Amino acid sequence: MAKMLKPPSSARPHITRNEDLIFELSAPGKVGADLAPLDVPAASAAEELGAELVRGEIEGFPEVSELEVIRHFTRLSTWNYGVDTGLYPLGSCTMKYNPRVNEVVARLEGVATLHPYAPDELAQGCLRVLYETARCLAEITGMDAVSLQPAAGAQGELTGILMIRAHLADRGHPRKTILIPDSAHGTNPASVAISGYEVRNLKSNARGCLDLSELGRAMTEDVAGLMLTIPNTLGIFETDIRKIAELVHAKGGLLYMDGANMNALVGVAQPAAFGVDVMHLNLHKTFTTPHGGGGPGSGPVAVRKFLEPYLPSPLVAHGQDGRYFLDFDRAKSIGRVRSFCGNFGMAVRALAYILANGAEGLRQTTEDAVLNANYVRERLKDLFALPYDSPSLHECVFSDSRQAAKGVRTGDIAKRLIDYGFHPYTTSFPLIVPGAMMIEPTESASKAELDAFIEAMRSIVQEVEEDAELVLKAPHTTRVTRLDETAAARKPVLRWKP
Ligand SMILES: *Cc1c(COP(=O)(O)O)cnc(C)c1O
Repeated sequence: MAKMLKPPSSARPHITRNEDLIFELSAPGKVGADLAPLDVPAASAAEELGAELVRGEIEGFPEVSELEVIRHFTRLSTWNYGVDTGLYPLGSCTMKYNPRVNEVVARLEGVATLHPYAPDELAQGCLRVLYETARCLAEITGMDAVSLQPAAGAQGELTGILMIRAHLADRGHPRKTILIPDSAHGTNPASVAISGYEVRNLKSNARGCLDLSELGRAMTEDVAGLMLTIPNTLGIFETDIRKIAELVHAKGGLLYMDGANMNALVGVAQPAAFGVDVMHLNLHKTFTTPHGGGGPGSGPVAVRKFLEPYLPSPLVAHGQDGRYFLDFDRAKSIGRVRSFCGNFGMAVRALAYILANGAEGLRQTTEDAVLNANYVRERLKDLFALPYDSPSLHECVFSDSRQAAKGVRTGDIAKRLIDYGFHPYTTSFPLIVPGAMMIEPTESASKAELDAFIEAMRSIVQEVEEDAELVLKAPHTTRVTRLDETAAARKPVLRWKP
């Protein structure tokens, strides 16, 4: 399929399409609703409510028919790209398919409509869902206790580091520094800085892993802990992880694991078993909540026993009498980090997903994700430079260095992929790989889809050789072509205005 795609010319044929004409649909007097006649006294609203509460005309409010509204939004949805459209190999994001049945479960009436202030006696089922979700996540990570409160991976990090601080302060001194490898996600140093610690960066070694001698030198009694992403952002597992944990613990520090990449480990390895003290998970990556577009998120934190007292309050507890309750009686807790119990619907989805898959299914998911990433890596490594060739887990990171000789960079190749009908991979991250191309296919992709993606990548490499301009000006087939990405990020236009 990808091979058939003819490189489109950069000039678009000069026809005005139906949908170009009909973006502005509003005309005075058109309505999309047919309201029943008023059957109560037509008292002056201003009299009843007070003039300040009555809104007259809404300026610029579109006046459109129902069909026009439906066509408008349906048409807009076809201008976008999503997991439901095709492969979404955005590395570090785990853009996998989220089974629809989990959406159905999250929308069940008793689950979706319970008032967050409902007393515990009336919320036993939902409290049990929270309790069981935490228990499953504890089993998956091997940890002893879990809080579902944090509303994102980054907030889980903040929560975890604040717990490390509280624990060390209890031991006498919170210490000053947290160590972070240079391959880390940007949220890691940000969370550490907000927690009041200084960040010290550790250089990765030639294998793309943490350098043990560098860690040995940096790990002093001033260091509160090490924050490590496993597998790291190169998709590489820290094979020396036990030794790393020993080095950190020997100096009284704690090991924090950024578990956003847990899609590579679930059902196969428990972080507690390799020395992790505290970690977060991203339910919106690994555990079936759709993500992208800014929300909702959920970044549960999982801890070993000695950190349990510091977990955010309240925790869902299961009493001797068999009843579930919110336990606020937690003197050492770092306090609340999110209103109520976090994004409850995401816990529901996660539990449905975990129970539907079972231990076997979760393990299979992980193995398929790793297999898919390694398949892509093997089939592309003759075309793209692979700066770190240690074995990959769930994602692989190439560099654009060979194509850069022709002036084509990772971002150009990513844009050209759009013309072939694929969402781009992650560009320019991790920062330790110049011109990084980070590919995470996830377990959702079939072999046929991966083959089409690989064909597209191979075809683009050929284009770079024969007609680099074509790639440099891509995409050609989209509604807008090259955007000013800085302006799009700094001054986004998020609202249509008449
Ligand atoms: C996504 C991600 C995060 C941050 O998670 P958010 O929910 O976006 O805050 C942190 N670390 C890694 C490695 C990630 O991939």
